[in-house]
Amino acid sequence: VIPDEAAAGRPPGAIKMRALVAAALLVAILLVILQATPPFASPEPPPSVAAPFFDKEPEIRVRIGTLEPGQEAVVTGIDGWTPGGVKVANRGGKPEIAGEPCDMPCVMMVKKDGELGLGDRRYHGDLVVVREPETSRVHLVNRLGIELYLEGVVLSEMPADYPDEALYAQAIASRSYAAWQILVRKDRIYDVTDTQRSQVYKGAPAQLELARRVVANTRGRVLTHGGKVLEAVFSSTCGGATRSAQEAFGDESPAPLRGVTCGLCDGTQFSTWTARVKRADAGRTLALGGPIEEVSASKVHQSGRLAQVTLLGPKGQKTLTGNQFRDLFGAAGRSTWFTRIELSGDWLVVDGRGFGHGVGMCQVGASKLASAARGHLAILAHYYPDAVIGLLYPVHES
Ligand SMILES: [Zn+2]
Repeated sequence: VIPDEAAAGRPPGAIKMRALVAAALLVAILLVILQATPPFASPEPPPSVAAPFFDKEPEIRVRIGTLEPGQEAVVTGIDGWTPGGVKVANRGGKPEIAGEPCDMPCVMMVKKDGELGLGDRRYHGDLVVVREPETSRVHLVNRLGIELYLEGVVLSEMPADYPDEALYAQAIASRSYAAWQILVRKDRIYDVTDTQRSQVYKGAPAQLELARRVVANTRGRVLTHGGKVLEAVFSSTCGGATRSAQEAFGDESPAPLRGVTCGLCDGTQFSTWTARVKRADAGRTLALGGPIEEVSASKVHQSGRLAQVTLLGPKGQKTLTGNQFRDLFGAAGRSTWFTRIELSGDWLVVDGRGFGHGVGMCQVGASKLASAARGHLAILAHYYPDAVIGLLYPVHES
């Protein structure tokens, strides 16, 4: 480690300059905040800190495909290969590129200014082919700068017709979430997946101009708490109030992830819903030897969401978590916030509230706040109270 030596060798003027530049940066950020926040916005937007976590824009590794033994995929756009593409295969648990085994990890550089192609998707950045330790799986990992990655995330996670300020809030939340993964998963072979298990990423966006503008206008900004990047999770519709990360995931919740009242998503598409499953089908799924006969002994979390429920059939009973119970209803089970659980004729019927895990920003609520002329910092302050906006890496404002 040499930063101290470097600082010691520098003339005092350079250090003064650094302090001046840092002060100018702070002022610039404060000006941006003042401009972006309408005068009546409340609660107060989070104060800003300039404490970059990286010395330059970090890269992120996104798992975009997995090959089981015997499977193969054609990748296009790789430097040094024909436009028709190159075959990547999993031969008995080992990666093979164009029929040749490759050393781990195999980096495939994309042609200059080109795009990586896999299936019907196009990606910016390069491809790393990597074997998962202690399994026979081979993963295809897209490696690219976090800002380019976010261009692919923002409009996959939020409809393009949402107000700009909601999209900006989404970009900052998504950047924070991604940065948290990069920082805590250093020893993993990738940082995030491309599905809603992490956040949805479909490669280079169709509406590139809008995506680029949204990301550029929030460049480098992340939510922080206690000097750390916040794992700023979010979900579609909270159903009335968000919940704590501890309740949902069992993690210890930092203050910004302890849940707030929302109410803004009331009356929207998924604020309330009904789902049903045949008692016989649920009984078969749970191997209870016949249709569900009784639902009992529910345990409910503090937020009102289901913690545990017991289902009885002719040949026994099963106790499920809220998530397992939700899965019985397939895609119609939108959350674990059930307001009615009932046996009715041949059916097990439930009413519920919200869509998603309900932790962090309520995306539909964010769009309502933006429609009411709230700036993105006020939106973030509402859903992540006590969070502080910081810089992930030094950003040079132009
Ligand atoms: Zn909500």
